[in-house]
Amino acid sequence: MRLIITEKNNSAQKIAEILSNGASTETKSFTVPVFRWEDSDGETAVIGTGGHFVGREFPQEKEYKQWKLDLIPGLIDAPLETGPIDGKKNVIKAVQKEAKKADSLVIGTDFDREGELIGLEALEVCLDVNADLEPTLKRARYSALTKEEIEGAFDNLDELSYPLANAAGARQDIDLIWGAAFTRAVSLVAKAYGANFLSVGRVQSPTLGLIVERELERRAHVAKPYWELFAKFEHPSGHSFEAHHATDKFWDKGEADAALKGTVSPGTVKSVTSRKSTSKPPSPYNTNSFQVDASSRLGITPKRAMDLAQDLYDDGFISYPRTDNTIYPDSLPLEKTIRSLVKIKDFAAAAPILEKPLHPTQGKKFDAAHPPIYPTHALYPSALDGPKARVYELIVRRFLATFGEPMVTESTRADIEAGSETYFVRGKVVLDPGYAGIYTYARSADEEIPALEEGQQLAIDGAPWLIDKETQPPARLSEAKLVQLMDEQGLGTKATRPDIIQKLYNRRYVRNHPPEPTATGIAMYEAFKEYVPDMATSAMTASLEGEMDEIAEEKMTKDEVVEDSRKLVHKTFKDLLQGEEALSKMIWEGMDKDRILGPCIVCQEAGRTKEDGSPNVLRIIRAKKSGKSFVGCTGWEADNPDSCDQTFPMPQPNFYEVTPLEENCSICHRTPRVNVKTRGRAGRPWKLCFNDDCPTMVEMREKKAERLAAQEAAKKAKELDEAEAKKSGKKKPAKKSGARKKSSKTKTVAARIANPPDLGTRRVKKAGARKPKKG
Ligand SMILES: [Zn+2]
Ligand SMILES: [Zn+2]
Repeated sequence: MRLIITEKNNSAQKIAEILSNGASTETKSFTVPVFRWEDSDGETAVIGTGGHFVGREFPQEKEYKQWKLDLIPGLIDAPLETGPIDGKKNVIKAVQKEAKKADSLVIGTDFDREGELIGLEALEVCLDVNADLEPTLKRARYSALTKEEIEGAFDNLDELSYPLANAAGARQDIDLIWGAAFTRAVSLVAKAYGANFLSVGRVQSPTLGLIVERELERRAHVAKPYWELFAKFEHPSGHSFEAHHATDKFWDKGEADAALKGTVSPGTVKSVTSRKSTSKPPSPYNTNSFQVDASSRLGITPKRAMDLAQDLYDDGFISYPRTDNTIYPDSLPLEKTIRSLVKIKDFAAAAPILEKPLHPTQGKKFDAAHPPIYPTHALYPSALDGPKARVYELIVRRFLATFGEPMVTESTRADIEAGSETYFVRGKVVLDPGYAGIYTYARSADEEIPALEEGQQLAIDGAPWLIDKETQPPARLSEAKLVQLMDEQGLGTKATRPDIIQKLYNRRYVRNHPPEPTATGIAMYEAFKEYVPDMATSAMTASLEGEMDEIAEEKMTKDEVVEDSRKLVHKTFKDLLQGEEALSKMIWEGMDKDRILGPCIVCQEAGRTKEDGSPNVLRIIRAKKSGKSFVGCTGWEADNPDSCDQTFPMPQPNFYEVTPLEENCSICHRTPRVNVKTRGRAGRPWKLCFNDDCPTMVEMREKKAERLAAQEAAKKAKELDEAEAKKSGKKKPAKKSGARKKSSKTKTVAARIANPPDLGTRRVKKAGARKPKKG
């Protein structure tokens, strides 16, 4: 029997279907699906592993478990062990059961470093029960779950690549050592214990640095005022139009006023110039350009875009989404793919590209492992769920655009003299959309201006006017831009970048989109930059990425690279200990700032302040015993009955993302207001005011009561309906009840989004409910 091991259950099923010509059947072994068939070559079984079988971990001894600063050097040098991953027992049993019966083994995991490592793990799991399989081992490499690719891969089986697997293995080890050593060290130094530990990562911390640096630039920005001057000219066509003064920005108000005074009606058109310009069609997508586009064109974060692309790949609709390549290899069936795509009405506009020989664009990067991302299956986007449909459509349109003609636009500029001053007006019209006819995202709206001739006299409509503006700080980095910067600085890989950004959100170092660093995030980065620069900047981590590439190229061994990394960790740890006290203080202050939500109005009204006269504030407090978070006033003292006993329950940060919205609610002006969102679930955040009597909260409760009443009524009606049906002895047609089931499911999802769970916004009355502070 031949045993094929793939990475996902989905790919196992697809490969079985393709290789068996649809004859495969699904069986279960220890609840794991196994796909089987028999043909002239004998019996075959295919199993998906669902990712890694084993993970790397520190030895079980106490010295590696305890969080103590003096144990960290030992932790860095600890011999790492391999241990089973939770929940993988059944898969291992199922694989080994098949391996015992097998006489040959094919690894068909994803074709990248991670896939190679999972393949190696699968091999070891099999050899444990059947050592005879080793010499039979083969590797199937494919870039898409299509008939051509899969049949091609199994007709040309390759060998498993140990260098590729070792490169992935080195990353696992290095990231484990860095993460464990510095997460413990920084948490211990900053006294951030328990669930509040501070996660630190080799790639994560420099990435945070990119975000914080931009934020600091924004904060350092000093707004500078300037003025812009406009005039409205009448046109014989009856369409008057606005023109801008030839001076883009007046930095001096006096000069702007003088230009305004010097403007005299009528104006004379001095010159009209037109220029045609062409823009070339875009190059094929690789992971990076796809992530950037999904973010800028569709507003989908890199992490989500990759998840959706992975789904589309698993379904066989697009090629493997993790690729550096931007040049189509000769082997791709380009014409056939285009032909099938333009049969879909949504993409029919691209049909003319088949009328001429195909000359696709090329990017700069080539990588023989995978082709650029392209659609492998033509379907109506409407057949897919919302965001998946949009991502599929983007990939198809981009693919078709790479065969398109340039877009031709014409821009026109007219200069108009009015008194001593000159004004100009500019228009831009698309003459031939070219590739933008199918890649519609690239097409800009026409900005037409009326026809103007040199010497033409135009009266000024009303008075010219000045608009005062001020310079803006640089914009925050979008996630797409961040992924791009990480790529440029060698931070992470195309496969890991989106997850690293997500981690910054999970650890609450950044919030909102585009990412905005929290006070904790800023403090951590600034402390690292000052005392542990290797952890703050990209140089060192990029050089390690380079060494991992050298493992894949067989220029270095895994052990050498992991050893190099250990040396760097030791050095960095020493730096950290030297700055221990100052570092601790900086981070502590940052964390403290993040806990403050806004002023305490009750204290303000009572004239209560802190000893130094500064106002009391409402802040997030974590009860020591229960670990629960609540909001309390800094003006509370355990043994002073006259102190401020304001407390409010809050959505627990472990389950909800709570981000500040207003320091003082703009509706009731009594308490701070926050945005709340369920962690790890799509859906909109809702606004929570801590004041129970706030009109916004009263309204929220009323709406909720209405919804509950409506649900109750619907339930009653359904029960009555069913009772009626039972009485009359008639069963409903199956089809109808099926349809009903579906609609009720949609409703619950919609209801869940619109109907946030009750978070208990009632006031905690007793001051005794509050955990006393130390001192
Ligand atoms: Zn107070
Ligand atoms: Zn309010």
